[in-house]
Formats: sequence, C-alpha cells, structure tokens
Amino acid sequence: MTRKKLIAGNWKMNGSLEANEALVRAVLAGLPGAAGDRAEAAVCVPAPYLSQVQQLAKGTALATGAQDVSVHASGAYTGEVSAAMLREFGARYAIVGHSERRQYHGETDAQVADKAKAALAAGITPIVCVGETLAEREAGQTEAVVKRQLAAVIHVNGHCISEIVVAYEPVWAIGTGKTATPEQAQQVHAVLRAQLHAASTHDDRVRILYGGSMNAANAATLLAQPDIDGGLIGGASLKAADFLQIIAAASAAAA
Ligand code: PEP
Repeated sequence: MTRKKLIAGNWKMNGSLEANEALVRAVLAGLPGAAGDRAEAAVCVPAPYLSQVQQLAKGTALATGAQDVSVHASGAYTGEVSAAMLREFGARYAIVGHSERRQYHGETDAQVADKAKAALAAGITPIVCVGETLAEREAGQTEAVVKRQLAAVIHVNGHCISEIVVAYEPVWAIGTGKTATPEQAQQVHAVLRAQLHAASTHDDRVRILYGGSMNAANAATLLAQPDIDGGLIGGASLKAADFLQIIAAASAAAA
C-alpha cells in the first residue's frame, strides 16, 4: 500500500489573528501547486485559533489540527480542552506526546496513550510523538526508548492503532537546527514500522513522520527514505514559502 505523504505544521505557541491570516492565505495560494494530489498538508494550531483557521481553510485541501488534547471527556478539569471540543472546531488531527509536553508538563507514556485514545474516540487522528533525548542516544538507548513510548500507545489502543499517525522526533533535533541524518532517521523509522507491523494487520495505513529541524533544504533527502511518510514541521511551518517547499518535496518524493 502506498501511503500518501503528510506534512503537518506545528505552530507551537505562535501566532496572532493577523499573522495567522497572512500565513494561511499564503499557504493556500501555493498549496495546489505544491501538493498536487500526492501529498497532504495540515497545520496544528493553538486551540483558540482553530476556529479562525478552520474558516480560512474551509473547502480547501489544508487540514487543521490541535497540539494537545485532554484525556478526559468533560468535567472539572480547568484549562483542559476535550477531543469533542476540538472536533467541533474542525480538528482532523491532534498532536499528542510532543516532547515539549513530556518535558515541561511531565506527560507520561501512559497519559500519551490515553490522549491518543481520547482523540480516536472523537474521530480525531492523533499524531503520536516519540523520540529520544541526546543523553539517551549517546547511551545507545534510542531504539528502546521509542519502542517503549510506542508500546504504551499500542497497549491502550489495540487494533485502533492502525488509525494513528506516528512522528519520530529526536528531542535533540527539535528547534535546534540539528537534523537527524536521513540514515539515522530511516533506521528508527524502520524499527517503528516493524513494531507497528507486529501489532496490527493494518499497519500499512499508519504514516510515520519525521520531525526535528526539517526545512526546505533537507526535506527532500529525508522524505526519500523508504519508511519516512512525511514530516512534522515546527519552525519552518511559520514561513509559507518554506512550508510549501517541504510540501512540494513530499509530493515529489511520492512521484
Ligand atoms: C516540532 O516542534 O515538532 C518540530 C519538529 O520543531 P522544529 O521543526 O522547529 O525542529
């Protein structure tokens, strides 16, 4: 099965009504030419802007997503946003377990797995992030760490695992300008692919994105790797021209 490549932007905590409008309009203007029908594009935006971006992207090929989701359906959880709420505002994707949330908010593998479950239950595709720190890589623990993180999600979600997207994001490559080499990334993607294959008969549906300083210059070689099905893009997703070039590279890699 050929998986359609997915390029998902992660705006993180950036944006304003004015800046978002300019960015989304510029992305939409170039999207048909960049993506063709061989690549999909999405932007995962701060929750308050979902409505704005949903309106701007209505009827276009640009999907919207959130950057986190509560494990709870409703109730006394001040500050939390449920999957059903995100869905009402058109979110097709929700990033879960981003390393910034694991690091700054103490999210555990079990919580990340529950967040993936909450998203799936509301019809939202979770983009499950896994990745090792520099210390873990240097200690030779990369495979063990990413397998442990993905195993928790497989354990909680069972056969629904075929409905997720995985993002391999080495923590040392996020926002640092240091990118995993295509070979380093491919090696981990192959491990994750094998793990998904062992867990599901429909694993061929699951896209495994690479994230970590992917940009217009390095996207093509990363996306040419056999097990890299797209990218999760932070900094470069805030510049329309760069984001479009990455989408075009995904489309070319799928040709
Ligand atoms: C990210 O935040 O998921 C990410 C990959 O960031 P950057 O592209 O800026 O490294």
